[in-house]
Amino acid sequence: MARIAVGGFQHETNTFAPLKASWADFERADAWPPFVRGPELIEAVEGFNIPIAGAVKTLLALDHQLVPLCWCSAPPSSYVEEEAYEKVAGWMVEDLRAQGPFDAVYLDLHGAMVAEHLEDGEGELMRRVRSVIGERIPLVASLDYHTNMTPEMVRHATAMVGYRTYPHIDMAETGSRAVRLLDRLLKDHRPLHKAYRQLDFLIPLVWQCTLMEPAKGIFELIAEVERGSDWSGEPTGSHNQGIVSITHTPGFPPADIAQCGPALVVYGHDKEAAESVADRLAGFIKEREPGFDGRLFSPDEAVVEAMRLARTATKPVLLADVQDNPGAGGTSDTVGLLRALIAHRAQGAVIGMIVDPAAAEAASAAGEGAMFERGIGAAVGFAGEEPVERAWRVVRIASGVFTGSGPMYGGAKFRIGPMALLTDEDSGVSAVLACRRIQAVDQEMFRHVGVEPSGVPILALKSTVHFRAHFQPIAETVLCVQSPGAHVTDPAELPYRNLRKGIRLRPAGPVHR
Ligand SMILES: [Zn+2]
Repeated sequence: MARIAVGGFQHETNTFAPLKASWADFERADAWPPFVRGPELIEAVEGFNIPIAGAVKTLLALDHQLVPLCWCSAPPSSYVEEEAYEKVAGWMVEDLRAQGPFDAVYLDLHGAMVAEHLEDGEGELMRRVRSVIGERIPLVASLDYHTNMTPEMVRHATAMVGYRTYPHIDMAETGSRAVRLLDRLLKDHRPLHKAYRQLDFLIPLVWQCTLMEPAKGIFELIAEVERGSDWSGEPTGSHNQGIVSITHTPGFPPADIAQCGPALVVYGHDKEAAESVADRLAGFIKEREPGFDGRLFSPDEAVVEAMRLARTATKPVLLADVQDNPGAGGTSDTVGLLRALIAHRAQGAVIGMIVDPAAAEAASAAGEGAMFERGIGAAVGFAGEEPVERAWRVVRIASGVFTGSGPMYGGAKFRIGPMALLTDEDSGVSAVLACRRIQAVDQEMFRHVGVEPSGVPILALKSTVHFRAHFQPIAETVLCVQSPGAHVTDPAELPYRNLRKGIRLRPAGPVHR
């Protein structure tokens, strides 16, 4: 039995987005638990599909003694405010000092946090943790798929273990994998060599999905090599060339930091084998660079095509509003796609979530059946948009408190209300209003306001990729739409100032100079 400190601090920072992450954003619950510190952490995270929940469960099953630090997350947005970062990092360091010594530390980190005063939120956090625990104690972190893995992070962590799915259905499982590795390090006492590589091109989120190539094949290969096969899939025997763990993070492009972009790290007992696997894996990904590509529709093109398909389809046609994804820093209130649906009179179409707290509260106050004379959406006013004014009917109002049922958010306790379903009776288009920014990834978000997603002809979702986990199985097809949003799909359009020179701004795209 070992004495292990566990904690987490999660944020995905889109430095080009309009809203920053304040302390209040970390403190309150959304779909995930609110800020929690000390012994209550164990119970607070139980049952959620998040890394710390998987880590805690596995460590307890392995009979370790846990010392909870703190855990919190905030919805993806622009920079983490300095006050919020220093508060959380300060508590972690304080609790580590007060409650040590420890045999090991596990941290649940996103890996793409940028604070107002720091480019590399996780690298700096782990540096501070190291300054308390020293160099010899294992420090293992789990990471999101969208980590911008920096040299600083690699230096301070004994090992890091990343998600292998996008949509992320393996979040709790990744926490569990990370601490099984931690357990092995505690028992083995063998040093790990780290072979780290950065790739020289950015990959738009929309083409990072592991349900499609090339990401699918890359992660299949990683799992095979880690399991102990050689490059051709042939077993190499129990020694597995000494490879212990492989993590590849395709990166989070809308982050204006030097170390933005895809990277990988191979951990192994044999230095040469680890370096060789890292080179081969980097080469394998580079060969597939042009494959990270696909079609993006304009809102008008998408709606016309969706209406054509819906005439004969037996299942919903999905429109993914990929740039206004609140899971990547979008405001989830832009109205380009909503306006196109209304303009083309896409009868029966539903769009969600439109995050407009004032409109959601006003609709709730007006009550079901009422006519609702005001604009909706464009609450933040990104891209100079104006709210959509129609004669809306309030069809349904709801509390916004419900439990998710999909592969990502199953068991998550949503608190995003009040919510409302509004219909423009002239065009037959409906919109789901909510108060908190949350990505449209779980069918319960629609059922909560009386909409059965599988019965809708055209369903528009503010999400880039995560919606696919719960919605693709019920869909006829998916069209990706490029409408205004703070998550700009093509990094070549972003005004980087701090990104390192020489990296290509998209696969096979222009070089950043
Ligand atoms: Zn992610």
